[in-house]
Amino acid sequence: VPTTSPSPVFDRTVAVLCGGVGAARLLAGLMDVLPAASITAIVNVADDTEIHGLSISPDIDTIVYTLAGAIDPERGWGLAGESWQALAALERYEGVRPPGSSAANRWFGLGDKDLATHFYRTQRLAEGATLTAVTAEIATAWGLGLTILPMTNDRLRTFVTTAQFGRIPFQEFFVRHRHAINALSVEFEGAVAASPGAAVVDAITTADLVIIAPSNPLVSIGPILSIDAIRTAVEGRRADVVAVSPIIAGKALKGPADHMLASAGIEVSAAGVAAHYRAVAATMVIDDLDAELASAVAAEGLRPIVTDTVMTSRERAAALCRTILGMT
Ligand code: GDP
Ligand code: CA
Repeated sequence: VPTTSPSPVFDRTVAVLCGGVGAARLLAGLMDVLPAASITAIVNVADDTEIHGLSISPDIDTIVYTLAGAIDPERGWGLAGESWQALAALERYEGVRPPGSSAANRWFGLGDKDLATHFYRTQRLAEGATLTAVTAEIATAWGLGLTILPMTNDRLRTFVTTAQFGRIPFQEFFVRHRHAINALSVEFEGAVAASPGAAVVDAITTADLVIIAPSNPLVSIGPILSIDAIRTAVEGRRADVVAVSPIIAGKALKGPADHMLASAGIEVSAAGVAAHYRAVAATMVIDDLDAELASAVAAEGLRPIVTDTVMTSRERAAALCRTILGMT
């Protein structure tokens, strides 16, 4: 439920590199302190997938539903007040599905109302619209005034290599196997050939401030920076780039970021994240609980800002954003 918003207090433009949940929370805070028209979200689409023939963009939808106040607060994904009748009705077809078919798979949760978003996106893409255009239409339909840009309109997909299942698409790792299995390595298929989405590089180049949201550094921010022209643009703005650590007190608040950083040989701490981002960010926001890591962050060449970064309410998210904008 959206709370009453104070009037925007800052007059700056920001571009935010985004995954799903961590980014959505930060964007909700930004919407309370900046005019929506000053905010551009550049969103990971390497988690995108096709299920039942539908084009699904999980990070974009998490951001749209969160900012619209429509997200299910307990699950953190999908719509509040959702029903699951379509998915349940697929059970009838499981028995007749030939071996090797993915028809009637039910491991990817698609609520009845959520399906409307995927129907719309799928049909518009089939009509030849770009994901950039369709995303703008979806954001407008939900009454959102910020700009939400997919990082690319090309096919760029995350694959995870695991000991148990070999090399599998990201959603099989993340949803089907509930990331309970270890990721040995991560690849971004299509990254070399992918171009930045429309207006992405321009947003990075012209924003007063670039923020790296507290999203998974490897599988949410990683794919965005795997596109050469985007990485170069962000590196070119390094002095004005501030990253928010998704790791607090040595743990991810949600999801597999901590285990994945460990597998990648990155220290599971705000300092490890700082080391990972040293070429792209000059400032790093770390949590009060990690205050003692400030000097380690500085030693990596990033200016530390220590504050409350746990965005369990919109007020806390807005307070974090006020601190970021006030100190950068
Ligand atoms: P996903 O794409 O939906 O999995 O989400 P993201 O990649 O955007 O975010 C996952 C990361 O967000 C996890 O590593 C969390 O630790 C981090 N995160 C989620 N909520 C918060 C928060 O309130 N504060 C901070 N600092 N990090 C958060
Ligand atoms: Ca994601």
